[in-house]
Amino acid sequence: MSLNLDLRQRAMLQEMHVKVWWPLTRDVEAQPTMLPTALAQPSATAAVVAPEQAIAPQPQHAGATPRRANALPQMTGLPSAVPAETGVTPRSADLQRLDWRGLQQAVADCRACALSQGRSHTVFGIGGLAPQAMERPPVADWLIVGEAPGEQEDLSGEPFVGPAGQLLDNMLHAIGLDRHRQSAPGDDAALQTAQGCFIANVLKCRPPANRNPEAGEVAQCLPLLQRQIELLQPKIILALGRFAAQTLLQDSVPDVHGIPLGKLRGQVHQYRGIPVVVTYHPAYLLRALGDKAKAWADLCLAVQVRQDAG
Ligand code: SF4
Repeated sequence: MSLNLDLRQRAMLQEMHVKVWWPLTRDVEAQPTMLPTALAQPSATAAVVAPEQAIAPQPQHAGATPRRANALPQMTGLPSAVPAETGVTPRSADLQRLDWRGLQQAVADCRACALSQGRSHTVFGIGGLAPQAMERPPVADWLIVGEAPGEQEDLSGEPFVGPAGQLLDNMLHAIGLDRHRQSAPGDDAALQTAQGCFIANVLKCRPPANRNPEAGEVAQCLPLLQRQIELLQPKIILALGRFAAQTLLQDSVPDVHGIPLGKLRGQVHQYRGIPVVVTYHPAYLLRALGDKAKAWADLCLAVQVRQDAG
C-alpha cells in the first residue's frame, strides 16, 4: 500500500491534527526520512507513556444508530455447527469446527458470561471485502481490534460507531482502508488488489456503564476472537488501546499486563505469527489531541509492516 496521499486523505489527517510533511506525489517508501518525526525516531516514540492508559468510555448518545447495510446481522434460524439449544459459547475445540456463518451464530447465541444479560445486540464485527459464500470469511488483510461495544454499538450491533468510530474511520481512510468498501461477489480482481479491513472487539457484548472488561469476561470471549482471526487470516493486526493489546499479546510479551500502552507502541509484536502494531484507542484520542500524531506514526509503522509482508 502506498502512502501517496490525495487531497481527501490529507484533509482527514488535518482533522486528526497530523501535519504531513511529504509532497503529494512522493511515495513514503522512497522517502523514509520524510516520515513524521515520531516514526522516524522509534526509540523516542516507544519511550512515551500515555498520560492516561485506561480506555475512555464511549460517548453517550441517545437513540440507536441505524444498522449499516453490511453490518453483520443478528442471525436467527440459520444452520449452525453449534447446537442451538446449548445457548453458550462452544469452547475452543468446538469453535474449530465453525465456519464464518457458524461463528456468527455462535456469537449471537452466546450466554457464556453475564454480559449477555444486559445486551441489546452482540457485536460480531464489520468490514472486509465480500466473500463468494456466506460460509467464507470476508477478505481482509487488516484486522482492527478494539476493546468492547459501547452504548451505541450495543444498540446498532456494529463496532465503533459515534465520534470514536468516525475518528477511526478517518484514520483508516488516511491509509486507504474503508470498512464499508465492498466488492462484488466473484470479483476476484478486486479481491486481489484492494485491501479490506475488518473491525472487531475483544468482547462481543457491552459491559454495563462502559466499565472496563473483567478478566473472566475476556477469558470467556477470547476464543471467539481467536476463531475470527483463524478464519480471517489477516496480514496485520492493529490493536486499539490497552485491553486489545494486552489480550492479543499475553502469550508473546512477558508481563504484558504491567506494561503501559506507550511502551508497547513503536515496535512490531506477534500474535501467532501475525504482526501486531499497537496504538491508542480512538476514544482516548478524542480527549488527547496531542497524541493523534503518535497514532499517525503507529499507522505509518503498520503500513510499512504490511508492505514488507508483501
Ligand atoms: S461477552 Fe463474549 S463470552 Fe460474554 S456473552 Fe457476550 S459473546 Fe459471550
